[in-house]
Amino acid sequence: MTIFNHILGFPRIGFQRELKIAQEMYWSKKISKIKLKKIGKKIRIKNLKTQQKMGLDFLSVGDFSWYDHVLSTTMMLGNIPKRFMTSNNKIDIDTLFYIARGVSDHNNSTNPSEMTKWFNTNYHYIVPEFSTDSVFNFSWKQLLKEIDEALLIGKNIKPVILGPMSYLWLGKTYEVNFNRFDLLDKILHVYKIIFSCLKKKGIQWVQIDEPILSLDLSPVWKKNFILSYNYLKCNINILLTTYFGNISHNLDIIKEIPIKGIHLDLVSGNYNLSELKTNFSQDIVLSLGIVNGKNIWKTDLLKYYFLIKKILKYRDNIWIGSSCSLMHVPVDINQEKKMKTELKVLFSFAVQKCYELYLLSNALNINKTDLLESWILPLLSYNNIIKNNKNNDIQDKILNLKTKDYKRKNSYKIRYKKQKNKLNLPILPITTIGSFPQTKDLRDLRSSFKEKLITKKEYKKKIFKIIKYNIIEQEKLNIDVLVHGEPERNDMVEYFGENLEGFLFTDYGWVQSYGSRCVKPPIIYSDISRVSPITLDWIKYAQSLTKKPVKGMLTGPVTILLWSFPREDISHKTIATQISLALKDEIYDLEKNGINIIQIDEPALREGLPLRDIDKKKYLDWAINSFKLTVSDVKDSTQIHTHMCYCEFNDIIQSISDLDADVITIETARSNMEILACFKNFKYPNSIGPGFYDIHSPNIPKEIDIIKLIKKSMKIIPIKKLWINPDCGLKTRTWIEVKYALKNLVSATLKIRSILS
Ligand code: GLN
Ligand code: ZN
Repeated sequence: MTIFNHILGFPRIGFQRELKIAQEMYWSKKISKIKLKKIGKKIRIKNLKTQQKMGLDFLSVGDFSWYDHVLSTTMMLGNIPKRFMTSNNKIDIDTLFYIARGVSDHNNSTNPSEMTKWFNTNYHYIVPEFSTDSVFNFSWKQLLKEIDEALLIGKNIKPVILGPMSYLWLGKTYEVNFNRFDLLDKILHVYKIIFSCLKKKGIQWVQIDEPILSLDLSPVWKKNFILSYNYLKCNINILLTTYFGNISHNLDIIKEIPIKGIHLDLVSGNYNLSELKTNFSQDIVLSLGIVNGKNIWKTDLLKYYFLIKKILKYRDNIWIGSSCSLMHVPVDINQEKKMKTELKVLFSFAVQKCYELYLLSNALNINKTDLLESWILPLLSYNNIIKNNKNNDIQDKILNLKTKDYKRKNSYKIRYKKQKNKLNLPILPITTIGSFPQTKDLRDLRSSFKEKLITKKEYKKKIFKIIKYNIIEQEKLNIDVLVHGEPERNDMVEYFGENLEGFLFTDYGWVQSYGSRCVKPPIIYSDISRVSPITLDWIKYAQSLTKKPVKGMLTGPVTILLWSFPREDISHKTIATQISLALKDEIYDLEKNGINIIQIDEPALREGLPLRDIDKKKYLDWAINSFKLTVSDVKDSTQIHTHMCYCEFNDIIQSISDLDADVITIETARSNMEILACFKNFKYPNSIGPGFYDIHSPNIPKEIDIIKLIKKSMKIIPIKKLWINPDCGLKTRTWIEVKYALKNLVSATLKIRSILS
């Protein structure tokens, strides 16, 4: 029997980020709505034609989105938050943008819906809003239009829709005593209507994404899952897609629901052969997600060829696919003109991943492996090369690590006293998180250096000038612990990647992070080491300008790892350890050169948390250890800070405390100090700066409001452990905003200090 191939979704940003450019032009009224829609259509058609050309059996439709696919689902289901409804109840693409970005005119402003991370990825979705009286109807028919469009290109169309249970799970309510299952009937009703529309269009298969099946689901969720899918049963074939993890713990659901196919993520799911052979009914399609949708290395197609051959002895009805949507990888490796050919042949971006699926299904169908062999040959020989060319220095260092290397010499209590004597800071010390405003001139300066239009000497001189300005301004503002302002950094991970051995960069390797924002993660392709000091010159210079302490500013090992595409031949833990060792050298140099406070940012720490409870401890253990390894050798009197943002802390607070940083600064201002509640129950042992200025908003916080927030915090955090700071870096703000906001932050603190004394 024939093996079919498909992907769960293609990147929607366009080969050259056309969507981003068009969205932003439309928002700034530089292009019309018609033009915007034309560009969107062009991207979709090109994506479909690419899939077709690469040899996919099904063309996925509905994976495109104007901003975010969860928001598209919100629009499709007509679940528009009331504040965005107009008097005539009409919704269109502007409604979608309003929900995502908020509306503001001269008189009033409407807040956008919240945004949060999509499972364990760095993609952010717009959180659906639920209330008792939420209405649902099939009001936005973008999907049907896209299907018509696609039918002109190919016959085998597979619509992709976010499933009702995951949609229900992802949403949020502001009501108390709200039972979200009360909405289920209304939601399912719309899905039924959508399915019948699809049927009328001649659709055979629909892909329904239920990523929540990788999570631990409570009995009530399981029960409702089963009821819902039994209710949805219809004459269209449902391929239920799961990804980002294993679903074996939810098989009781799968066995009870009338689906025609199930998709498993074999890359992050770790299924063993016997599970695959026995757990899934022979009557339904088993779609095996074997091409990694989250990393950019070529797939070991031979390995999967033999695995699938084994499965085929027991059953047929097999499809192969990407592990998850390909939206988490860049579009096309062939756009990389500067990358050496011998490196390029190691990677598959979205286009090449489609081709891999074709290669494998074809090989299975004709029983021939020669094309697979030549496809993966470069990767196998590369893996051999790095295996034999290990950086022995690093390997030895890792092998020789002892328990004591993960721990500072003395307890916080002892360190606290020594730091107090050395640093001589006032109570409620004021600091900022690291970056200062990044102006256009500054960005131009960095890119002209990158393009070798100016010499290193000229560049350094200009950056020094900016650092000097930042220091002078902070002194004028009367801040206690200063920063150099990070003018040399484009991005907190890219900068370290560029200055460490073992990283590779792309020109067009963009991946959507949220809305029009894309990131370009570096590739970790060999052992990581530090060749020479990275930040030392900048920080040393900054410190030479002032008597106040300047913080050394580093990105932590977990964040560097998680915001890159890692190698697959060694574990994440080992990669993180290599990064830690490199950062350790940097910290040693900073300390030796008179830097007494060092901050190591770990904003991605929580994002790496596995989806299932049973896996969390293992991750947290190595993640926390890799942080501790970087700082274990510093003197007692050297103060280690860490910073985390956009996280929910409650469930990992113990681990955060285990980091044993002397000071942690966190994001709380945006949630109106909601997060403090967690420190009420958990007695955090070290010092905390809970963030008193929401830097994500252009608003200037008033002195009186800051005073209130400080007083609120003083009730929960012991005064001698409380720090005053904004809730994140200031690089996205303007200088005017920053000066006024910090002025108020300082004057509020001074007032409290005078009351206290
Ligand atoms: N030090 C970084 C900055 O201030 C931290 C950024 C972040 O938390 N994402 O920009
Ligand atoms: Zn931050």
